[in-house]
Amino acid sequence: MPFVEIEDVGTKARRKLTPHRRLQVWEKTGGICVLCSRKIEGGRERWIAEHIRALELGGADNLDNMGPAHEACAFVKTQDDHRRAAKAKREKIQYIGADGAKRPLPFGRHSPWKRKVSGQIVPR
Ligand SMILES: [Zn+2]
Repeated sequence: MPFVEIEDVGTKARRKLTPHRRLQVWEKTGGICVLCSRKIEGGRERWIAEHIRALELGGADNLDNMGPAHEACAFVKTQDDHRRAAKAKREKIQYIGADGAKRPLPFGRHSPWKRKVSGQIVPR
């Protein structure tokens, strides 16, 4: 298809996280969680290499944007990131005018007609 260029919108490719890179992430803060600033007990607590600015919010997939975080801390942050990314997408959809059905649902909120509970149809 000549008119369609395939490109990634809004997400960035994730580099593979090798044990060596995980060590680099760990050493960056010396094992301090980037989210709650408490020490991570590396051998006993589960931790992940967290993207400080989420990839879906435009963060880079490199060491500068990463740090170790408790799995529990990261879970909360990830939920918030998803919420914010979804909101940003909704706002962009509205901003570029990609939203809205071309024809309103019959008797829906955007229809010029409304149907009362009695079944009577009246102009809005
Ligand atoms: Zn933490």
